[in-house]
Amino acid sequence: MNIPLIDLKAQHEVIKEEIMDAIKEVIESGSFILGQNVKALEKEIAEFTNTKYGIGVGNGTDGLQLILEAYGIGEGDEVITTPFTFFATAEAISQTKAVPVFVDIDKDSYNIDVNKIEEKITNKTKAIIPVHIFGQPADMDKILEIGKHYKIIVIEDACQAIGADYKGKKIGSLGNAACFSFYPTKNLGGIGDGGMIVTNDELVAERIKMLRFHGQRKKYYSEILGHNSRLDEVQAAILRIKLKYLKEWNEKRSQFAYRYTKKLKDFPLKTPIELANIYSVYHLYVALAEERDELVKYLHCNGIACGIYYPVPLHLQKAYKSLNYNKGDFPISEYVSKRAIALPLYPEMTEEIQDYIIEKIKDFYLGR
Ligand SMILES: *Cc1c(COP(=O)(O)O)cnc(C)c1O
Repeated sequence: MNIPLIDLKAQHEVIKEEIMDAIKEVIESGSFILGQNVKALEKEIAEFTNTKYGIGVGNGTDGLQLILEAYGIGEGDEVITTPFTFFATAEAISQTKAVPVFVDIDKDSYNIDVNKIEEKITNKTKAIIPVHIFGQPADMDKILEIGKHYKIIVIEDACQAIGADYKGKKIGSLGNAACFSFYPTKNLGGIGDGGMIVTNDELVAERIKMLRFHGQRKKYYSEILGHNSRLDEVQAAILRIKLKYLKEWNEKRSQFAYRYTKKLKDFPLKTPIELANIYSVYHLYVALAEERDELVKYLHCNGIACGIYYPVPLHLQKAYKSLNYNKGDFPISEYVSKRAIALPLYPEMTEEIQDYIIEKIKDFYLGR
């Protein structure tokens, strides 16, 4: 058997005709950048996340950077986030010339530890970027309370969590602004790069629309320095089709996730812990294993792909040497990085495939 970590071919098989028709329509329309599909998708994602404005951008990384720039964050500023995330979260901060300030994660949710944020706040702190890691919402009530108290904005890195809920509220609608990524393997993915910012802040939405398009409100009249970071029509057309299935796909992901958790409960693995009052969309199913590297090898040998998210926490990345962090600075992030293993999880998976994976994990532990 050959089991991938995520099976995009299987996903596209089901909706191939719809997608092909949509691509054909875009080609025939002759409108490829910021056309009708982008406009429609912006509206649909805003509605889906219960926000007022959606702004399509080139990718999730740009989206985070554009939000920061729209709030005037840059040189001399500090932005708090977690070291246990994809590099892009901190990279977006650094690209504005602000400094990422890391706060360790909670040992169960792997999200930012809300009890350790306040000790990192200085008079330079301008924003907090919680990351809803692996599709599980961060503890937003506490983060928003801190934001309000210190007058710091909160930007959700929701790249892994489209469709998730926090206490009945949609992820993306909780902070001042949020960013989603449509990278192909995300829960809602295009056939290339793409991203979407959502916000209720009209001025910020206006500013981001300028920033994504050379600082222009009117074509060829640049009011500020911007970027070229737009969502294209082909991606938007495909994403609009996929958006119709997202709820069902997310539901399937969580069902398979619960099934893993149930069936792996007597194994020496730490399965994901879901906090109360949230709906996680399980972008990834990440367990912790003491003998992680051996387990990964064993599963690979049995045709099962698994992933390591993330092998190196950001404070220990070579690119951040200049920030002068050391090993031991964020013990929980480091602990999790050494043990995390993502098991195959995708909506088109079957119980048979999952049982095979579980059987092999069992063999691994029995053989030790
Ligand atoms: C994917 C991802 C990003 C970046 O998104 P791109 O579209 O690849 O630029 C940022 N943050 C997190 C947490 C992500 O998972």
